[in-house]
Amino acid sequence: MNDSPIVLRSIADTRNWSSEIRRSGTLGFVPTMGALHEGHAELMRVAARECGVVAVSIYVNPTQFGPKEDLGKYPRTFESDLELCRSVGVKAIFFPSDEIMYPHGREDFTAVEVPSLTTLFEGASRPGHFVGVATVVTKLFGIVQPDFSYFGRKDYQQWLVIKRMTEDLNLGVNLRRVDTVRESDGLAMSSRNRYLSADERASALGLSRSLKALENALATGETRVKPLEKCIMDVLGSDPGVQLDYARIVNADNLRELEVVETHIPESAVALIAARVGTTRLIDNLMLPPISGRTEIRA
Ligand code: AMP
Repeated sequence: MNDSPIVLRSIADTRNWSSEIRRSGTLGFVPTMGALHEGHAELMRVAARECGVVAVSIYVNPTQFGPKEDLGKYPRTFESDLELCRSVGVKAIFFPSDEIMYPHGREDFTAVEVPSLTTLFEGASRPGHFVGVATVVTKLFGIVQPDFSYFGRKDYQQWLVIKRMTEDLNLGVNLRRVDTVRESDGLAMSSRNRYLSADERASALGLSRSLKALENALATGETRVKPLEKCIMDVLGSDPGVQLDYARIVNADNLRELEVVETHIPESAVALIAARVGTTRLIDNLMLPPISGRTEIRA
């Protein structure tokens, strides 16, 4: 039975704890917004395998939510989050207040702006979102001072933004990407899935189904991006419960347009999907072509 993680609420306590840990070992860090699920647990397990000690942050970062987004209703489930962290052997949870993270207020803070990548896709649909993400992750790295930090491929563009920012600002944290954890029917796990009604849950499954259709089309020899993107549209367009925002196949390194998927270079492209189901915005993605012998979506 693992001990319950220590809950750290101040920056000074967190820095002291971290420097003590790093004196004799390696610290892995998993930033989250809480409402933890198996996807988060997988990040923590990978971190635990690679590092001696794992810390998690739980902070619903207000600056990455737009004015019309779900900040107020974002699920907050601290007690069950603590239990999940304990069950996978997390040693500490940084659980700050808004006053600690934004002492001069949510409008008045030094911001981190990552160029080019952030104008596309999620950045275009959610203005300001990536400034909030890049800023809070920079602050969390400065507070927790980890050796390694773990991010999910589920938020693919976020991963690229954090990678670029960490390189550009020489933050000195080693980044690791962990594959998307899915429900048994294929739906990518997300804290926002709990907003879905039963009918909406059925529609939400269209996202992973459309990626499966895409994977099948590529496996049968279609490599042109336009017909491959149509495979996604054919699945999602037929469900009135799904309002598609975007469904595109682009270069996996820089998100630029592609004509064809280079089938001899594994994971050289990525299919990115965002859609609204009811009032819930969902995203999913698939790396193309898959690493030899792998299929991501079984259902
Ligand atoms: P969030 O709490 O949504 O900000 O997510 C915290 C971290 O967990 C991010 O790095 C996400 O990409 C990652 N994550 C969320 N859902 C999944 C999933 N289904 N599989 C793997 N990682 C995930």
